[in-house]
Amino acid sequence: MLPFFFCVRPVRRGRAWGRQVKPAVFLDRDGTLNVDVGYLDRHERLALFPWSLDSIRLLRRAGYAVVVVTNQIGVARGMVDERFIEDVYQFIQARLGDIGEQLDGHYYCPHEPSALIKAFRVDCDCRKPKLGMVTRAARDLGLDISRSVVVGDKWSDIGLARAAGARGVLVRTGYGRSQEHMPVDGLAADSVVNTLMDAVSWILRHPPAGVR
Ligand SMILES: [Mg+2]
Ligand SMILES: [Zn+2]
Repeated sequence: MLPFFFCVRPVRRGRAWGRQVKPAVFLDRDGTLNVDVGYLDRHERLALFPWSLDSIRLLRRAGYAVVVVTNQIGVARGMVDERFIEDVYQFIQARLGDIGEQLDGHYYCPHEPSALIKAFRVDCDCRKPKLGMVTRAARDLGLDISRSVVVGDKWSDIGLARAAGARGVLVRTGYGRSQEHMPVDGLAADSVVNTLMDAVSWILRHPPAGVR
């Protein structure tokens, strides 16, 4: 069993010293990149939205690093194997590779304070809306969080954006449509849109300073 602090795996390792920091788009996975089927635990149940790969391509061509940050509580509950989370990530990377693209990073939180599996019974700092995955990505990849955007289908994604001092876009895929009608006090998305591709359109229309 991997200890909890190995839960994050940057694509490119090493610190960002000496590299120019760039903005990122932090993407939720289930309900944002792929159909949310509850606990995604096997390949036959994985379906990327038809616009997901092109969305990532457009963001990267606009100068954003694209990083997946996903809560995977199914691991803590013994319902999802960590190796399968890695498989999903490799599948997405392979599909992106077909069009000459890639994700810049992939981080997941397998923890739950009341987890069935002891190794994941951690009151961690990385379960969204907590900041851990974003701060680690920023450190690993050299990212400017203040110029970044979080896109997801839950208020925890928007909460993460707020906690990070980034902007947050709620998509109506996955849980988004119901979340939109269950507002959380003190939490507002910068934009609520139908799909990840619409989020990309919004992001490209609202660039922070310094994006090439
Ligand atoms: Mg989601
Ligand atoms: Zn965690």
